[in-house]
Amino acid sequence: MEPEGDNRLLQDVLTRADNETCADCGNPEPDWASLTLGVFVCQACSLLHRSIPHISRVKSVQDTWDASDVELMAAMGNNVAKAKYEQKVPAFYYRPKHTDCKLLREQWIRAKYERNEFEFIEKQEPYSAGYREGFLWKRGRDNGQFLSRKFILSEREGALKYFNKHDVSTIRLVVINTCMFCSNTFYSVVLSMLPPFKARDPKAVMKIETLNATFQPAKIGNPCGLQITYLKDNSTRNIFVYHSDAKEMVDWFNAIRAARFHYLQVAYPGASDEELVPKLTRNFMREGFMEKTGPKHTEGFKKRWFTMDDRRLMYFKDPLDAYARGEVFIGSKENSYTVLPGLPPTIQGYHWNHGITIVTPDRKFLFACETEAEQRDWIAAFQRVINRPMRPQEYAVEAHFKHKP
Ligand SMILES: [Zn+2]
Repeated sequence: MEPEGDNRLLQDVLTRADNETCADCGNPEPDWASLTLGVFVCQACSLLHRSIPHISRVKSVQDTWDASDVELMAAMGNNVAKAKYEQKVPAFYYRPKHTDCKLLREQWIRAKYERNEFEFIEKQEPYSAGYREGFLWKRGRDNGQFLSRKFILSEREGALKYFNKHDVSTIRLVVINTCMFCSNTFYSVVLSMLPPFKARDPKAVMKIETLNATFQPAKIGNPCGLQITYLKDNSTRNIFVYHSDAKEMVDWFNAIRAARFHYLQVAYPGASDEELVPKLTRNFMREGFMEKTGPKHTEGFKKRWFTMDDRRLMYFKDPLDAYARGEVFIGSKENSYTVLPGLPPTIQGYHWNHGITIVTPDRKFLFACETEAEQRDWIAAFQRVINRPMRPQEYAVEAHFKHKP
């Protein structure tokens, strides 16, 4: 049925270039509008707008519209709103896409419209400061329990650190004094810096150079769950953290991005923001279970959790392990890396029937997937990496893998 009257005018506003994608996540063909903010958003974002009703009142474009509301949307729209609410978004600040977790999308919407974080430059947000400290719940490596740990992110030191016990740099001294007039004793508490007692050593020092943070709510089992990876002796280490306050967690995430941004600005002088921003954090290309066998191909297949992170294929016994059992470098086709469906005919011992063979200059890696769809998606992920020519610095990484004991 053709829309009539004011709804037809609304269709004209909707087909304007700026209104063709969601104002908050970029998803095409938004079919909801916020009448109070004057933006068109997708259905998923409209649900998040509903959770802040004092800021945003949403209406479906399928509803019946009256002339005044259509006029309002015509006068506003996504470009006008962007100029107002996204005036001063720092280059490093993460702008979520529709595929990102709810936490990131909701906090982006609240930062823009509820907290007005990007309207005034004078308002220095805590994630921009270059230094951040606070407590996060960190998953214990051995028992899997989350315990409160102090974290310090310091751009000056080029590192994120965490401490197992409270940082003991001050101590309370109780001093007994005698009143000079009446000779009564009284107590006073002095907080004193104690030079002889050093602050405890950090449990881990994660260099900003190799730091990556990625939200993993499903894997960690918490809506604010963040996975932080870093390299130690060129091997990947994982820690899993969360904060019970959603804004705090997203601020930590953006503080890490800010620190990485400033680090890269120094490392690559003259590089544009557009070149640096994609390097701040990266989502894994693919994760999931596969079976693998050992280098002799006779070891029997074992189920392992695999993570494809850029050119590193890592496998873990448990998805929340602190470090990988093994890491494989995946180069490019120019350097004799290939991925093939299936396994060599003589191979036995797998339980899952959908095989994958990765050929590298050194050896073949054999994997088995549970379903055909998983096999197809893994092959597509490997293919994307193999089809991309290697960057100069990736040759150094490849060489390091080859000389691993
Ligand atoms: Zn959206």
